[in-house]
Amino acid sequence: MRTLDDLGAVEGLRGLVRVDFNVPLADGAVSDDARIRAALPTIEELRGRGARLLLVSHLGRPKEREPKYSLAPVAAYLADLLGVEVGLATDLDSVPDGDVVMLENIRYEPGETKNDPALSARLGALADFYVNDAFGAAHRAHASTVGVVAHVGTSAAGRLLQREVETLTGILADPGRPLVAIVGGAKVTDKIGVIDAFLKVADTILIGGAMSYPFFRSQGHAVGGSLCEAEGVEPAARALAQAGGKLRLPVDHVLGAEFSADTEAIGHDEIDVPDGLMGLDIGPRTAALYAAEIASAGTVFWNGPMGAFELPPFAAGTRAVAEAVAATDAVTVVGGGDSAAALAQFGLDDRITHMSTGGGASLQLLEGKTLPGLEVLS
Ligand code: AMP
Repeated sequence: MRTLDDLGAVEGLRGLVRVDFNVPLADGAVSDDARIRAALPTIEELRGRGARLLLVSHLGRPKEREPKYSLAPVAAYLADLLGVEVGLATDLDSVPDGDVVMLENIRYEPGETKNDPALSARLGALADFYVNDAFGAAHRAHASTVGVVAHVGTSAAGRLLQREVETLTGILADPGRPLVAIVGGAKVTDKIGVIDAFLKVADTILIGGAMSYPFFRSQGHAVGGSLCEAEGVEPAARALAQAGGKLRLPVDHVLGAEFSADTEAIGHDEIDVPDGLMGLDIGPRTAALYAAEIASAGTVFWNGPMGAFELPPFAAGTRAVAEAVAATDAVTVVGGGDSAAALAQFGLDDRITHMSTGGGASLQLLEGKTLPGLEVLS
C-alpha cells in the first residue's frame, strides 16, 4: 500500500483527497464530527507540505440532487475546524480556486456508484495526485475510490486509511495474546466471515446478541420467540463444530415479551427460552464471564452489541462488555457500526485503542477479502 510517504514533493500541486464525510446531520448541521476529525491528520499533513486540496466525499444515498444531502454544512464545519476558507464546488465544471475546496456530494453524479470511466477521467483531470483516506468507502468500487486512480499521476493511502489497515490486519497477524473477539448483533450470516477468520487466530470468541439463537437452535435448544435467523443455523453449526471450544455462548439471558422499551425485563438463568418470550440481552452471569475474559486479554476485537442495547431494560449486557473493553489495558479495536454507537451511548468511546470508521470495510478486511479501494493503491 502506497502511503503519503511515497507521494514525493507535492508543493504547489492540487491533490484530490477522497474522504469519508458521510456524517450524521441534525437540523442541517453536523451532529457527530468523528469522521471529519479522523481525516484531519491527512489534510493537515498535505497542507503542511504545500499542496492545495480538493476534498471529495459522499453523504447518504441521494437519488438525485436532493438538497438535504448537500455537503455545504460539512464544508462550513471543516472551515471552522481548520480556520481557513473552504470553498464548495457545486459541480465538476466550476471548481473554485483555493487552498481547500470541497466538491459537492459525489453521489449527486450518477456515474459515481457505477465506477463510470467518464466520471473517473473528469475527476482525475481536476488533480495532480490522488489520496484515498475514506476507509468507510474502501470496500466499494466507485469512480472516486477506484476509477479515478488510473487518471492521476500518483496516488496513495491517507493516514487514516493507513492506520485502519495496519491496525486491523495487525491484530490478525501479530496480536498480543490472548486474542479475544467479541461478536454480536442481529445476524450470524453478516458475521460468519469474521467468525471464521477469528476461529483461525483468536484464543476465544464470545458470542452475544440475537445471533446467539441460531447457535442454540443448532444445538437443539428452544429459542422461544427470540429473533433467530433461519439461514444462520447451518453456518452456526459448522462454526461450532470447527471451534474446538474457542466459541463461548451465553449461559443466561434477559427475556422480554416484545421488542419494546416498555417491556418488563425478566432474568432467565438457563439456556432454553420459553414460548411467548424472546431473548433480548445476555444475562448477568454471561456478562461477568465475558468481562473476565476481556480483562485477561492481550488484544480485544469487538463488533456487534450483546442485545437490544437501544432499549434501556436490555442494555446492561452490552454496557458490561463496553465497560470491560474500556477498562482493560489490552489493545482494543472496535469495528464501527453499533458497537461504536453503544460505546458513545455509554460515554466510553475515548477509551478504545482504535475505533474503526468503517463497519462493512473493517469486517471485509478481517475476513481477508480484497478491498477494491486498497487494491488500486498497492
Ligand atoms: P448488527 O447490525 O448486526 O450489529 O445488529 C445490531 C442490532 O441487533 C441492534 O439494533 C440490536 O437491537 C439488535 N439486537 C441485538 N441483540 C438482539 C436480540 N437479542 N433481539 C433482538 N434484537 C437484537
